[in-house]
Amino acid sequence: MSDVRLVLRSRRVLTPEGERPATVTVDGEGRIAAVLAYDAEVPSGAALEDVGEDALLPGLVDTHVHVNDPGRAEWEGFWTATRAAAAGGITTIVDMPLNSLPPTTTADNLRIKREVAEPKAHVDVGFWGGAVPGNVAQLRPLHEAGVFGFKCFLSPSGVDEFPELDRAQLAEAMAEIASFDGLLIVHAEDPGRLAAAPQKHGPAYADFLASRPRSAENDAIALLVELAARYGTRVHVLHLSSSDALPQLAKARAEGLRVTAETCPHFLTLTAEEVPDGATEFKCCPPIREKENQDALWQGLADGTLDCVVSDHSPCTTDLKTPDFGTAWGGISSLQLGLPAVWTEARRRGLALTDVARWMSEAPARLAGLQGKGAIAPGRDADFAVLAPEETFTVDPARLHHRNQVTAYAGKTLHGVVRSAWLRGERVADHGTPTGKTGRLVERKTA
Ligand SMILES: [Zn+2]
Repeated sequence: MSDVRLVLRSRRVLTPEGERPATVTVDGEGRIAAVLAYDAEVPSGAALEDVGEDALLPGLVDTHVHVNDPGRAEWEGFWTATRAAAAGGITTIVDMPLNSLPPTTTADNLRIKREVAEPKAHVDVGFWGGAVPGNVAQLRPLHEAGVFGFKCFLSPSGVDEFPELDRAQLAEAMAEIASFDGLLIVHAEDPGRLAAAPQKHGPAYADFLASRPRSAENDAIALLVELAARYGTRVHVLHLSSSDALPQLAKARAEGLRVTAETCPHFLTLTAEEVPDGATEFKCCPPIREKENQDALWQGLADGTLDCVVSDHSPCTTDLKTPDFGTAWGGISSLQLGLPAVWTEARRRGLALTDVARWMSEAPARLAGLQGKGAIAPGRDADFAVLAPEETFTVDPARLHHRNQVTAYAGKTLHGVVRSAWLRGERVADHGTPTGKTGRLVERKTA
């Protein structure tokens, strides 16, 4: 016990075994030494942080963040994104391979991204690679360089430098990724279904919703399941919106396929019915759907068909959010707000904070293979979010640390105030203010 330098104590510690009063000790390396009884003695020389009735969660892991730095850092950069993450209780992010210039589609480009990110990281930062037409020979080198997996699109991504894969290219990428037991993560919307849908521009949300039908997601996921069965590739469905796809995901898993899926705070907390005309801060692809769809997504989380809840934080500058849903940039900013947004709705539905910690920390850490993250348990990194679950606040965009303070959550009153965040035993946020810059770059472990 002699090298314990910090002790955190709470009436509500969220461990993998459930919630209980406990004392958590942190060693000199920034790892959790032990999870002890609530009234365990504090070792001499160790600092005590008693958070009382506030809940101690494992630091959140957000595996779906678009940072866009370098190249489109005016949309979001590593400095601002990681500060927003810390303020929101997220201690690890994994950056998406597109919207930055260059995209993370070669090992050289990964090196550039790392050089840009490292001096700005307020929380830990990892990287996804990209699978695009013509880069199949780059996938293994990227895997060996430490990316956590590969993202691809099946329909246009929104940026020219990151094209989608066609069926033959998708099959080729899946076979290659299976050869080194990597992970493919997919924006699953079928291009044929999108092309066949009415593409009416303008301010009406109903027209936008009709342009991105559930069938596009359902068909794309059917193709992924078919190819996962053929090649044995590990596949993860990004930002699932269509609840119609849940039965086929459940069936694929029941058959032993290694297929996982995530959904996002906006699909779980916002509905198509409430989006005002012209309010393109609500635009994302796939889109926010109807209330009954949202209820089914919650059921999918509760029964384990959906694994993770991650932000898909995909910001842009304000001028790109024109009032026309056809032309506005698609992406919702929520990095700093995901935990209270999801907790507010989970709480209303009678779900527990332990469920939220599983969806937003444990499961994303497992998806990426981040063995030191995702749980309050001995040997893990001492990463924590301290949350006042019953306290409320009203979202004021001016208090967000995102590079652009456009948010679909403006004016909403949410439950759950993030009091502080801790990374390897260092406080990285205090009452919504980032404090300290101790983030590191993290890589896929070969262990
Ligand atoms: Zn995304």
